[in-house]
Amino acid sequence: MIPPVAVIGAGPYGLSTAAHLQAHGLPVRVFGEPMENWRAHMPVGMILKSTPAASTIDAPRRGHTLGDFCAATGTERLVRDEDLIPADVFVAYGDWFRRGLVPGLESARVVSVGRSDNRPGFELGLDSGERFTARAVVVATGLSGLAHVPPELAPLPHSAHHHDLSRFAGKELLVIGAGQSALETAALAAEAGASVRVVARGRGRVRFGAPPWEQPRWRPGTPFGRAWSLYALTCWPHQYRRLPPHVRHFLARRVLGPLGAWWLRERFEGKVAVREVAAVEAAHVSGGAPALTVRTHDGRRQELTADHAIAATGYRVDLAALPFLDDGLRARITVSRGTPRLGAGYVSSVPGLYFTGVLSGSSYGPLMRFVCGTAFASPRLARHLAATHG
Ligand SMILES: Cc1cc2nc3c(=O)[nH]c(=O)nc-3n(C[C@H](O)[C@H](O)[C@H](O)COP(=O)(O)OP(=O)(O)OC[C@H]3O[C@@H](n4cnc5c(N)ncnc54)[C@H](O)[C@@H]3O)c2cc1C
Repeated sequence: MIPPVAVIGAGPYGLSTAAHLQAHGLPVRVFGEPMENWRAHMPVGMILKSTPAASTIDAPRRGHTLGDFCAATGTERLVRDEDLIPADVFVAYGDWFRRGLVPGLESARVVSVGRSDNRPGFELGLDSGERFTARAVVVATGLSGLAHVPPELAPLPHSAHHHDLSRFAGKELLVIGAGQSALETAALAAEAGASVRVVARGRGRVRFGAPPWEQPRWRPGTPFGRAWSLYALTCWPHQYRRLPPHVRHFLARRVLGPLGAWWLRERFEGKVAVREVAAVEAAHVSGGAPALTVRTHDGRRQELTADHAIAATGYRVDLAALPFLDDGLRARITVSRGTPRLGAGYVSSVPGLYFTGVLSGSSYGPLMRFVCGTAFASPRLARHLAATHG
């Protein structure tokens, strides 16, 4: 039997990549819980920050856009920039995409990936106990395992572990962070009846984007709004790969950085308190209640207490966080600050081993952190893989 290509991950990138690989006539096995991170690790009631135009999972043939899904299922049409996409609608879209284009998805987890000893290809192990050989492997595990809590906040849970925020009704809650995830978590918890304070480092860090109709027309349009920097990153992910590492890491931090969505402002302001501090120095939990030690802007040390606290401190790509990679294989992957260095076609320094989605962001830019990056990544990855392993 000809060994298949293994795609690890069943989020937007895994599904899109698998559909493109199948369109090249390759045998493919796809693993993962479909849309797991959207279904289980994002808050109930969440709304996508991306616009409808930037929320389509790329397919190899027509008829599978978010708009097509709305038309086919009688869902309210989502087309204009001001149309908001509830996360549960996006999950339903992902499921519809999967049923149409990746019907053979296997919900098993991949527990090990290593090089085959005597044969070309890779040896994979599943949580079912099955082992098999794959001619190539695409890692599309997205945010799984990458939730980042800085050491000083180590005792606190990450926002990815709070799905249903209604459990905070009637309680005091501290949310640490100033990105969309922090601000939306805070707004949802306040709407559920919690008394919420956002703790943000720096001054003026809690900000919201301008609504689509207020963005300057003279700036070029992109899936994320009108801005030259975003335009460059959306149009030329190839060039991003050729920038010096320190420039890429700087851009990864600065472009598309923390900013609340325009529609969140009125749900947030006046309902959630904001505490700006110079630094959050430590967190302790005693008797189940958290306490934060913060340094104020005038240099004093203060303690903030509440019934609960959540670290909405984002995600960090690090190959060490992918437990299924065998040590021998991991050691052969060229990395830059823990992230894989990828060549043309999303291939790593190990021939046949590909990374896509957020795991490819340090090579192909911030676009890869978002669903719309599938339009660039999936066809290129599939073409490269088909040409070298077809
Ligand atoms: C709160 C929040 C809000 C967001 N909002 C937006 C937005 O509005 N628009 C946008 O474009 N992006 C948004 N994002 C980013 C979003 O997560 C990515 O765009 C998208 O999910 C990336 O898709 P993915 O397929 O790479 O990974 P994921 O969606 O993270 O999927 C990973 C998949 O890998 C599988 N998996 C993991 N490990 C294994 C294993 N060992 N074996 C088998 N399968 C495995 C999981 O089951 C899952 O199916 C948001 C992120 C967060 C945290």
